[in-house]
Amino acid sequence: MQRIVLASSNPGKLKEFSALLADSGLDVIPQTSLGISDADETGLTFVENALLKARHAAQASGLPALADDSGLCVDHLHGAPGLYSARYSGGHGDAAANNAKLLRELDGVPTDQRGAFFICVLVLLQHADDPAPLIAEARWHGRILTEGRGTGGFGYNPVFLPEGYEQSVAEMDDALKNRLSHRGQALVKLHERLRERHHA
Ligand code: IMP
Repeated sequence: MQRIVLASSNPGKLKEFSALLADSGLDVIPQTSLGISDADETGLTFVENALLKARHAAQASGLPALADDSGLCVDHLHGAPGLYSARYSGGHGDAAANNAKLLRELDGVPTDQRGAFFICVLVLLQHADDPAPLIAEARWHGRILTEGRGTGGFGYNPVFLPEGYEQSVAEMDDALKNRLSHRGQALVKLHERLRERHHA
């Protein structure tokens, strides 16, 4: 089994990755269990930040590294909170404050203008100097509710209503979320890229 390091220390994401990668044939080790700190996310796009995170973890561990950078982009806010999704309200990872700020920013905005998408970019580097990383991206479209609903998962789950569903993400069970989500779909694409590479 190939050992790879997962360049994330977000507990919500780690839980999803371990379910999503359960039968991948990869032995996935969270960077936290190797004592690796978070990389500085100084990029201006999701893909740049995912590359920075993967390179940092590969360099520190000497192992191949998988990183994800993700966030929520709201049409009416020209893509905000975007790269700054985790710290939209100031403090890092304060989901309740982030959701409250988002609902305030969209106060009075009608339903048809509340469109948004989650995005996930995954990067797999074989080693820190790998010039040809595997990259996969997926988006999950929906809209922002006028108040939070449900308690499942993390981040903006309570305020995001996926297209075609009546439940917020926080009201979905984990299996459904993992099948539909930006992270789940990006992993499906990454698996395809891995297969293509093995058969090339
Ligand atoms: P990252 O660790 O820089 O990728 O931060 C991503 C942030 O985007 C998270 O802290 C959440 O606020 C938000 N986010 C990303 N994916 C999800 C999701 O699946 N549900 C809810 N919020 C998410």
